[in-house]
Amino acid sequence: MTITLSNDEQSPHILVLGMGGTIAGLAPSPESNPLFYQAGQVNVGDLLTNIEKALPEGLKIVSRQVANINSSNLSEALLTQLGDLVRSSLANTALIGIVVTHGTDTIEETSLFLHATCGKYAGKLSKRIVLTGAMLPSNAPGADGPSNLINAIRWVSKPVDQCPGGVFAVFAGNVCMARDLAKRHSSELNAPLRDSPCSPLDSISQSWLDGVKAIQAVPGDDLPIPREQAWPWVEILTSHVGARSETIQNCLSPGVEGLVISGTGQGGFSNVWKEPLDKAIADGIALVRSTRAGAGIVRPDLPEKDTVGCMASGSLSAPKARIALQLAINAAKEKVVNTKNLQWQDFFVMQTLQTKSSS
Ligand code: ASP
Repeated sequence: MTITLSNDEQSPHILVLGMGGTIAGLAPSPESNPLFYQAGQVNVGDLLTNIEKALPEGLKIVSRQVANINSSNLSEALLTQLGDLVRSSLANTALIGIVVTHGTDTIEETSLFLHATCGKYAGKLSKRIVLTGAMLPSNAPGADGPSNLINAIRWVSKPVDQCPGGVFAVFAGNVCMARDLAKRHSSELNAPLRDSPCSPLDSISQSWLDGVKAIQAVPGDDLPIPREQAWPWVEILTSHVGARSETIQNCLSPGVEGLVISGTGQGGFSNVWKEPLDKAIADGIALVRSTRAGAGIVRPDLPEKDTVGCMASGSLSAPKARIALQLAINAAKEKVVNTKNLQWQDFFVMQTLQTKSSS
């Protein structure tokens, strides 16, 4: 992707990319019913104008609207556009770092995507990409968006000796690695990171920082960003009481390349799925087991021996495992340089190796 730089982007600046979400949301009756609102109504430029006075003097901020949507409508094509823009912007020597404002409903998927496709590059350049959003719409009393955005901009501009480059997320006065983000509450202000390893922004914990450095030091390369139409079709299936064997065949339409099982407990599933899933693997469908438990890790060959070829998700939730699997299948197809005979499983392992911080 070639981008033309405006004059603003030729001197040191922070780039803020707007994706929409509740941070850009408006409620018709904010005082009486703040949780009844429409996401993605306010432009990112206006969000910045509202906090201008609280930002450090002399800091130049450039904004771009990539989308203005409710993140439940996020498409893979938009992820491609966002990833391309992030990578090409990182290459600009005048760029200090990037903030992405995003809806919280699917922010964990975008976070994992940016971590897996841009995290190593950002680390090498000692630049930070910081995702943020809000749980209350922009016109609600006590809206959390402005403080989250101010904190995200401050975190991006922190000197590199205080925190390495990479992909992070900032919410409710805390920072976490973006790949650890996981919305685990429907309405609390800290919902996106309440169960993730994180640190208060005003007193960075040394153990958290050591964890960040350890993750950034895991060898490996960023995975390629799939082209807009090239994202592999991967579905998520939740195992539940009364599971039916036909469900597997029903979801394997022609064109489906992978399945992520949101399994019970340690990533288990009903016996009635065993035979159709083994057949799917034999037919070339990529299979990953994760857990619907909401926390903890899924290990290979637990609670039972895996069928050869099936992978365990580590600490990736089902939606994150799905993005990782899509990137892995795409990387295997693209035969990325230096990786000659690698299969999707090898790329998947590279991703799950970086999951240790949440285990
Ligand atoms: N539905 C909103 C979105 O994800 C929720 C939020 O931003 O908190 O866009």
